[in-house]
Amino acid sequence: PSETGRVLSIQSHTVQGYVGNKSAVFPLQLLGYDVDPINSVQFSNHTGYPTFKGQVLNGQQLGDLIAGLEENNLLYYTHLLTGYIGSVSFLNAVLEVVHKLRSVNPKLTYVCDPVMGDDGKLYVPTELVAIYREKVVPVASMLTPNQFEAELLTGFRIVTEKDGREACNILHASGPSKVVITSINMEGNLLLIGSHQKEKGHSPDQFKIVMPKIPAYFTGTGDLMTALLLGWSNKYPDNLDKAAELAVSSLQALLQRTLADYVKVGFAPQSSSLEIRLVQSQDDIRHPEVKYKAERY
Ligand code: ADP
Ligand code: PLP
Ligand code: ZN
Repeated sequence: PSETGRVLSIQSHTVQGYVGNKSAVFPLQLLGYDVDPINSVQFSNHTGYPTFKGQVLNGQQLGDLIAGLEENNLLYYTHLLTGYIGSVSFLNAVLEVVHKLRSVNPKLTYVCDPVMGDDGKLYVPTELVAIYREKVVPVASMLTPNQFEAELLTGFRIVTEKDGREACNILHASGPSKVVITSINMEGNLLLIGSHQKEKGHSPDQFKIVMPKIPAYFTGTGDLMTALLLGWSNKYPDNLDKAAELAVSSLQALLQRTLADYVKVGFAPQSSSLEIRLVQSQDDIRHPEVKYKAERY
């Protein structure tokens, strides 16, 4: 497959370490995409460290950058990718970007990671939840929530696999044809559930991928996962299961390398969040060996 595209990626930037654009831009470039990053924040390091310093872009400033592109006829994109968004005004500005990009390219694919929290903890202002649910999800082409985010968006508790599939159905009904719940905690394993509704109103093709849970905490993995899903699902537009196998296999190889590198220097992996070994894993990103298989329902 050689299908590529031009991606506008609106995410965080960290000087040191890999979250947001720092973990999404390089892998997409490796997969052959032109990527234009807009840094929604510029922080010294990610928020998993004791402190951080830096700047936050506001909705007006995002609008300025988009206006500059527009003045020069540079608003043609095949994909829009968004991740962590910290304020109501910025999320509303992103919605305007979606509409503007779609007016230039009606076939724009909008890949949205609705970053709101994890493990029952919300890390964005509460008001954002309703805006995601009512305005953002309806315009997204592909959505990649984690378990908690899927629960917030559907108001539906996910306990069993069946619940995960039902949450996907609810999300399809409000907009996106592709939904990937990137991880559901289940008996020491992580479960990814993917769902592709090929025609509106029809029942979706669904699958799961089971991954062993590594006893360590990583940051930037959700952002990397969404970028890889964008990259591969565009190359295999009718095989979300295959795209997910490739994305998961790259990510798991990278996590194993990350873990091994920390253990090598005598670091206890549970003690704090680990920086992913992104650059060192470029071969696993370009040519993943598929070790994690999708099981269709
Ligand atoms: P987020 O960071 O957005 O909450 P997830 O926790 O779902 O996203 O992580 C994204 C992907 O990263 C998962 O699909 C899984 O492949 C991988 N991953 C993250 N943490 C672990 C872990 N501790 N063990 C195994 N895989 C992990
Ligand atoms: N953006 C910033 C600035 C962060 O600090 C973090 C996590 O610490 C993230 C995004 C999201 O990381 P993840 O992909 O692990 O959800
Ligand atoms: Zn996330």
